[in-house]
Amino acid sequence: MKILIAGFQHETNTFAPTKARYEDFINGGGFPPMVRGADLLALRTVNVPAGGFIAAAETQGHELIPVVWAGATPSAHVTEDAYERIAGEIIAAAKRGGFDAIYLDLHGAMVTEHLDDGEGELLSRLRALVGPDLPIVASLDLHANVTEQMLANADGLVAYRTYPHVDMAETGRLAAALLADRVAAGGPLHRAARRLPFLIPINGMCTLLEPARSAYAQLATLETGPVVSLSFAPGFPAADFPECGPVVWGYGRSAEAAAAAVDTLYRQYVAAEPAWAVPFLDPDEAVTQAMRLAEAATRPVVIADTQDNPGAGGDSNTTGLLRALLHHEATDAALGLLWDPEAAAAAHAAGVGATVRLALGGRSGVRSDAPVEGAFTVEHLSDGRTVLEGPMMTGSRVDLGPTAGLRIGGVHIVVASRKAQMLDRNLYRVGGVEPERMKILVNKSSVHFRADFEPIAAAVLVAKAPGPMAADPADLPWRRLAPGMRIRPGGPAFAPQRSAG
Ligand SMILES: [Zn+2]
Repeated sequence: MKILIAGFQHETNTFAPTKARYEDFINGGGFPPMVRGADLLALRTVNVPAGGFIAAAETQGHELIPVVWAGATPSAHVTEDAYERIAGEIIAAAKRGGFDAIYLDLHGAMVTEHLDDGEGELLSRLRALVGPDLPIVASLDLHANVTEQMLANADGLVAYRTYPHVDMAETGRLAAALLADRVAAGGPLHRAARRLPFLIPINGMCTLLEPARSAYAQLATLETGPVVSLSFAPGFPAADFPECGPVVWGYGRSAEAAAAAVDTLYRQYVAAEPAWAVPFLDPDEAVTQAMRLAEAATRPVVIADTQDNPGAGGDSNTTGLLRALLHHEATDAALGLLWDPEAAAAAHAAGVGATVRLALGGRSGVRSDAPVEGAFTVEHLSDGRTVLEGPMMTGSRVDLGPTAGLRIGGVHIVVASRKAQMLDRNLYRVGGVEPERMKILVNKSSVHFRADFEPIAAAVLVAKAPGPMAADPADLPWRRLAPGMRIRPGGPAFAPQRSAG
């Protein structure tokens, strides 16, 4: 086959402050930069879904027609300009024809300035162009908010099964297998889908922990006989539109088999509703609990500073947990990464061993977040370049810009000039901190850090310090959710505010 291939990834937090512009897709942020043509095919060795799809399709002897691959760091809405330019490029390539199938590497939670459902719109524009018979498959992130429009216009959608996402390329391979099954069937597979009636906090979706671990293990168990593919996307619970929420779906060679498998999963997931809730701690509780646990532990206690996770729209510079560490006089504690280019520059100007007076971080604009003012010792300076070695992004090169290891009291802080999620231990080392030697680590991450830090952690706590990314969806000012959707597991149902006229 000749397969048209493109990627367009964005996870949209409609409550976040900054939009994703075309330039943000050119740079990529945490993603590879925008690529076209042969450069897109070079993703075959990278742990992104397109990489796994390309490798599988080439092995199967298919010819790939690369268009464009573009992703940007999670943020508020994608601008209309960025969406129309990138989607327009994909549509223009599709108009030229000359292919037998389409594969798209999508996230599934893209909201734009002018569209609630960026992926559904792209799939429906493509479907209108190629007609009902040409197979279209796409891979999705586990955090996709899967919509009717997406399901109706794709022959197959398949989502990651791990969070931390260590199976991105693997999901691309599953998409290639789903395409092969669709082609072998000679027509569309039967589809079934059901939406769960409650939002799940992203911390509750971690597949290293229950109930998500069993929920995902069950998918593969039921993929037998006429059931071809099953997926569960618990959603991205910070996108204010009516189809935000978890969806389980699947494809089969018989309608009954697909529906039965999806119903079985749906009933299990809904029966486990209380287990999907997350016990959040406030900063004081988290720090005092960590200090108590650390007394008897030989390994660090890790606190997730989840509401400032730059992987979900945070700016990585809130100070709630730093204040709590200082207030409780924690020692052998480290926090990372704190994004503050001015502080990093001041440390570089002063030199190792110097003491600098700083107003560090605290620029989120969130009420009760503020800079921490004080005297900081410069312990370490670097150019911020490192190679990640953890299981999630093994081999990825990271450039944090000028980076400094600062200390105040018993707390070490790795300050970077560029934002990056603390998902790899080398992001501490680049600031001169050996994470294994600390008693307490405060990581600006929600879940991804677990892949590399759980092996060295005595315990992991999840804290809710004031920050831009509400970890508990019940804390968000929803306006447009589906009426009746519970805003947390076991929580109250959303009811739209009646306008005063
Ligand atoms: Zn995700």
